[in-house]
Formats: sequence, structure tokens, C-alpha cells
Amino acid sequence: MKVEKEKKIIKRIKIDADKCNGCKACEMICSAYHALPKYSSNNPARARIRVIREPLADIYIPVYAGEYTPAECAGRDKYIIDGKEYEECAFCRASCPSREEFKEPDSGLPLKCDMCEGEDEPLCVKWCITDALVYEEVEEEVEDIPKPEDLEIGLSDLINKYGLEQVIDTIDRLSVKSAA
Ligand code: SF4
Ligand code: SF4
Repeated sequence: MKVEKEKKIIKRIKIDADKCNGCKACEMICSAYHALPKYSSNNPARARIRVIREPLADIYIPVYAGEYTPAECAGRDKYIIDGKEYEECAFCRASCPSREEFKEPDSGLPLKCDMCEGEDEPLCVKWCITDALVYEEVEEEVEDIPKPEDLEIGLSDLINKYGLEQVIDTIDRLSVKSAA
């Protein structure tokens, strides 16, 4: 299988936890932006970013909501960084059955950061006055691996248009040519 490389713009938010003061402005604006209708309410429990706050330990870590997972991990990590001990799962971005973060509080549906689709810059970044969050767009070369389901869709279209026999004949002819 030939794997093509293609250039993609990757959006990312750089987090400098040392600059975060735990103000939660990012949580507020994210939940307001995603309220229905927009800006009709704000509730940090609906935010797609959560700030781990332990003021007595001077711990403030913004974490973005990532993928949903139907099962919790069998093993857990415990991080100690610069002498500070972090809760298990502290840095995990998953919406997972073992905790309340990243779930819509009424429905329990998983939440995921969508980079404020449609905005020129993520709103949490705009509202973070300490520059703990910085938005970047970088161009990266990624492997464009063809998905089997794309092939199926393409073949179904051809079969609908030309009929199964003609498609098989064509594949036979092409395979003879490529083997020669
Ligand atoms: S807005 Fe910035 S400083 Fe405030 S909690 Fe969020 S990341 Fe931290
Ligand atoms: S980028 Fe937008 S959707 Fe993602 S956490 Fe920030 S405000 Fe919320």
C-alpha cells in the first residue's frame, strides 16, 4: 500500500502552566461560548478546558478535553514534578467513566475541545491574560493512510455506475499490466 505524505495545518495551544494563576477565565468563556444559545449562561462544568487548582500546593494546570473513552484505565499514573505530587489522572484529557470532568452535567454526554470552530482564535486563549495559553498554527507533513472504508465507498460508486462485471474486468486488466 502506497502511503502518500501531505501537508496539514495543525492547530495547537501551547500551555505554560507556570504562568497560570488559576483564575478560571478560560473555563468561563468556553462554557459561555458553547451554551445554547451562545453566551446565554456560563457554567465551568460545561467547559472543554478544566484547570486543576490546588492553591495550597501552588498547583494550577489547564487541561483540555480530548477523546471519549468507554472504559477506565486498568492502571494509573502518579506524577511528582518539582516535588509537587499530582492526582492520578491529573493530566489525562479523556472523558472517562471514572470521573466527572469533561461531561455535560445534565446529559452526561462527553465534551471535547473543538478549538472554537469558526473563531479566528480560541476564546480561552484570548481570555487568558497571563499568556499561559498561546495559540499556534504549524504546518506538518503527515502520512495520508488510505482508509479501507474509503476504498469500499469508491468501489461501490464504480459498481453502481459501471456494473460489477466491468469493474472486475478492469481490475483484472490493471493487475495483469502491473504484474508485467
Ligand atoms: S485563563 Fe489562563 S491564567 Fe486563568 S485559569 Fe485559564 S489558563 Fe490559567
Ligand atoms: S479552544 Fe475553545 S472549545 Fe477548546 S477549550 Fe478553548 S474555549 Fe473551549
